[in-house]
Amino acid sequence: MEKIIVKTGKRLECINITSRIVQLCQGKIEDGIIVVFVPHTTAGIFINENTDPDVVTDFENTLSQLVKPDFSYLHSEGNSDSHIKSSIIGSSVSIIVENGRIQLGRWQGIFFAEFDGPRTREIWCKFIPCK
Ligand code: ZN
Repeated sequence: MEKIIVKTGKRLECINITSRIVQLCQGKIEDGIIVVFVPHTTAGIFINENTDPDVVTDFENTLSQLVKPDFSYLHSEGNSDSHIKSSIIGSSVSIIVENGRIQLGRWQGIFFAEFDGPRTREIWCKFIPCK
């Protein structure tokens, strides 16, 4: 398993990690699957548009509106909205690797989503060879 460290600067922040995953992938496997997994309960991982940064800003703003931090939650840590956002977005993505390269759609990128930052986070990556 390979680990990537991400430092976040805001409470809610989406960080494009595509180039780091591409770099990590080099020389690992020719054909197979890479699983990109976040071992945190207040963070997530997703694939979406990599070209227009407004898409990610819209994503952040919409999530903030959908799951507000100041609702009357029971969880005493004060970060229930972060836990809920994490489960809505999900903790992992799987991507096809072919001829040594990850296969993403033309406009797609891989994003780490921080929901309770700023923090230092880990992303775990596992390469599974198959034909
Ligand atoms: Zn909590």
